[in-house]
Amino acid sequence: MNPPKTVTSQRLDKFTATPEVEVVIAPNAGACFGVVRAIKLGQQAAKRGKGESVRAFGALVHNPRTIRELEQSGVKITDDPDEIRSGTVILRSHGVKQETEAEFKRRGVQIVDATCPLVKKPQRIASGLGQKGYFLILVGNAEHPEVKGVVSYFGRPDYLVTYQTEDLDKIPAHVQKVGIVAQTTIEVKVLNTIVEACRKRFSEVLVYNTICDATSVRQKEAEVLAKEADVMVVVGGKNSSNTTKLVKICKEFQPETYWVEDKTEINPLWFVNKKKIGVTGGASTPQEYVDEVGTFIAELVESEMVAFHPPASSALPEAYGTD
Ligand code: SF4
Repeated sequence: MNPPKTVTSQRLDKFTATPEVEVVIAPNAGACFGVVRAIKLGQQAAKRGKGESVRAFGALVHNPRTIRELEQSGVKITDDPDEIRSGTVILRSHGVKQETEAEFKRRGVQIVDATCPLVKKPQRIASGLGQKGYFLILVGNAEHPEVKGVVSYFGRPDYLVTYQTEDLDKIPAHVQKVGIVAQTTIEVKVLNTIVEACRKRFSEVLVYNTICDATSVRQKEAEVLAKEADVMVVVGGKNSSNTTKLVKICKEFQPETYWVEDKTEINPLWFVNKKKIGVTGGASTPQEYVDEVGTFIAELVESEMVAFHPPASSALPEAYGTD
């Protein structure tokens, strides 16, 4: 006779511990406050906008399920500003170009600004640096919509977007006053390296650390949990770069790491003979999806589908992306 089995989760208090299996959800797993706010504003706009066009300019959040739900509630997602000529537009959490917003206003489109306050900050700083005649060094990815938005607030041509010190050679020799701003999601060590190189070269260097710690907090927690767990499950959109990074970190410390968008992708065989199952989720994954996956795994374990019917090890699936 098997001993009675229950499952524990640090975050989902509703489970109780079993001597055999523990399901642990990282404390901050799932959506950051900026994404939660954007989704809420999107839902509210959909409710108010019955009968008229409600569009989100750019994916409000990189999670296909949330986007599907928003679309079902009447919000159409588009990347084409020309499609937005009336009704309401919701601006994504990582911001839009200043001129794009101005054009929406000119067209009489009602604006719901879901830009995260932590993204507004580098926008404001860039604008101030532009007015004071500083050369802007924006540490980040030039192709990222947030970076394009921040550059538009700078409003001048004398700027460089980079995350590599070698690129500093592209700055004209006469430049002496630089202001450094960071994309919110870059790693602090990347910013520090650029700052150090700039201090050696320019006579005046203003540094604004505009990095948001939502991503780094989730990454640190994922590392700690992956070191302890026998298997890791990461919940998040396959189009989400912060979830991609979490998967990478988890795999580094726990090769048996699986990436799912929701509980339907869970394979019970992943948990056979595992004692500690770790669950985390990217900053663009609503917390309820993460909790739903944790609950589902706990129920699988409780139902004894997992631990007491181990298949031959050769039948186990490969961990996600172990190639
Ligand atoms: S990651 Fe940070 S900056 Fe980006 S939306 Fe979330 S809280 Fe805002």
